[in-house]
Amino acid sequence: MTFKRYVLTQRVVNDLKKRSSIGIIFYIILAVIIILDQGYYSRNKDFALTFMVSLNSICLFRVIHLIFFNKIEKYNEKLNNTIFIFSVITTSLIWGASFAYFVIQENESSSKLLMVMCTAGLCSGGIVAFLPERRLAIVFNICMTCPAILYCVIYGINYPLAVMIFLFSIYMVSMTYRGNREYWDALENETRLKEQAVELQRLSHTDALTGLYNRRYFNDIFEFEWKRSYRNNILITIIICDIDYFKHINDTFGHIAGDEYLKRTAEILKDVFKRDTDIVARYGGEEFVIVISGGDPQGIAKMTDNVRKKVEENGVRFKGEEMKATLSFGIASCIASSQESLNSLITKADQALYRAKKNGRNRVETTID
Ligand code: GH3
Ligand code: MG
Ligand code: MG
Repeated sequence: MTFKRYVLTQRVVNDLKKRSSIGIIFYIILAVIIILDQGYYSRNKDFALTFMVSLNSICLFRVIHLIFFNKIEKYNEKLNNTIFIFSVITTSLIWGASFAYFVIQENESSSKLLMVMCTAGLCSGGIVAFLPERRLAIVFNICMTCPAILYCVIYGINYPLAVMIFLFSIYMVSMTYRGNREYWDALENETRLKEQAVELQRLSHTDALTGLYNRRYFNDIFEFEWKRSYRNNILITIIICDIDYFKHINDTFGHIAGDEYLKRTAEILKDVFKRDTDIVARYGGEEFVIVISGGDPQGIAKMTDNVRKKVEENGVRFKGEEMKATLSFGIASCIASSQESLNSLITKADQALYRAKKNGRNRVETTID
């Protein structure tokens, strides 16, 4: 199975949003600590102010964007993602440029040390946060570290620090690749498990031969429809259908041919009872059951008779031979009430089917309360 990344885009965007929101507050806290460290602010007022104002502005912008994230997403998804990426890159550029400025400053070893530590921490945190989108994580990393490396090289100072930042940056990029792969593998597994759970659920409802609902699902859904009929005072109808002399089909044409006949009968029933609310299930063996909510009893009886005629008139061809059989139906309808039990409706439909069999088969018999 090819993993369809585009299906997950929204999930990834939401992951990115959640993973990165907590980091915003750390930029501000760490910047304040660095600026206030040992009177740094009083010695470098202009730079400190520029650093704080620009950082606070972009962080505030990101917080506002996060608040309106879902609203903007509904209006324009692409614009929303662009704003997100733009604001992340701007934050890292502001921090990265300020880090570079610290690196070339003289006599500020304490703040410089704090800045190096904080940048390393924020870089690692950012990489983890942006793992789902590898390119964003790498660009973030470059914006955080490259200005300082460039400054060192341009000003010809602190080469060991420049080399250290460079190596750190390479290490971060390699971790990005690894983490990104792991993220997508985990997401792929999660998606596959979800799909399998849905498929299992479907299979547990389905009769393997005919593709109709199975008896178990019928039991559940019938109880649900029964309660709905009781609550809303609407008619509920059960139709039980049995193939006449089906044993004869098996005996004459073989069991595989009999299976084909069952499949074709199921198709005809599905074709006629095709409303979303009609439930067509295999009751067992060569018996089928249909649950109908609402509708009028005459109309339902007429539809049932149409199925009977269709089957009577059309045989099923299998390996060059034509198999012909007929169907008998028992119908029971009622409006669910506290006096009536859902089993009694099935019993009534069963009794009607028995009458159909007794009265010569290939018939529709009805019980209406
Ligand atoms: P009646 O008109 O009284 O219903 O007669 P009948 O022959 O249809 O009823 P009976 O209960 O005697 O036989 C039902 C047959 O249905 C016997 C059984 O082998 C067959 N049958 C049940 N399930 C399947 C199935 O999944 N595939 C096939 N090919 N046959 C099945
Ligand atoms: Mg039977
Ligand atoms: Mg039968």
